[in-house]
Amino acid sequence: MRLAEDFAGSRPGATLSDLVAELDERAAAQHAPTVEGVTLASLHAAKGLEWDAVFLVGLTEGMVPITYAKTDQQIEEERRLLYVGVTRARHHLTLSWALSRAPGGRASRRPTRFLNGLRPGSQAVGARTLGGAGGIERGAAAPGGGGATVRRRRGPVHCRVCGRALTDAGEMKLMRCEGCPSELDEALYERLRDWRAEQAGLLGQPAYCVFTDKTLLAIAEAVPETASELARIAGVGRRKLDRFGADVLALCAGRELPSAVDDEGDDGAGGSHSGDPWQNSTEK
Ligand SMILES: [Zn+2]
Repeated sequence: MRLAEDFAGSRPGATLSDLVAELDERAAAQHAPTVEGVTLASLHAAKGLEWDAVFLVGLTEGMVPITYAKTDQQIEEERRLLYVGVTRARHHLTLSWALSRAPGGRASRRPTRFLNGLRPGSQAVGARTLGGAGGIERGAAAPGGGGATVRRRRGPVHCRVCGRALTDAGEMKLMRCEGCPSELDEALYERLRDWRAEQAGLLGQPAYCVFTDKTLLAIAEAVPETASELARIAGVGRRKLDRFGADVLALCAGRELPSAVDDEGDDGAGGSHSGDPWQNSTEK
């Protein structure tokens, strides 16, 4: 607005199309505005310019580096481009990334690898690349690793958000860094907690004897669809898989569980578990 006012002030009688022409000219010349204001620019367009405060947004894999960058050389060019962006700031720099496309959407994106080692809670991985740009290894904890120590079957457990190899036992149970954004399905977590309270009541044991908070969190984040996916979550041992697997998978699939109290003597209740391998092992 200031720009428009200044323009109108300096050019009495100027029309809107004069202003548009002026803006076009500025854009073409890549002149930073000389008045207080916000400039939206691509990293390429920002070359050679500086601002007091710079916000770099959308710093996720696929954007930076861009999906089209395939070769090591192209990836390094993308890294230089981010460097250009970072160094446009004179005083304030804010970097951000969104893990899902829309608010409440599935958090399927990852922060750019270029911030590994810079981002809080992240760690530089390897020399310059994240071992394979492909995917994040989803939890490698062996089934049966129910205790505080997580046994490993296929190498280290990696954070499924940033890909960092995890060493902290609590983080390994979560399968992500404490500081990495949670992909938690809140509604599912609430249902799991209610279900756990009910089970604990039936067993006459504290809730953590059914599953610990960390394990429930990991389940609500990973949303396992199969028994083997569930078994990869730390804290889900063979015994618990046999005992609770069908219920947990049903909850994760969004199916209603028959209330444990109504379950007794109700022939129809077992029907919701048909097709599950635990059909015959869920007697209360
Ligand atoms: Zn992480």
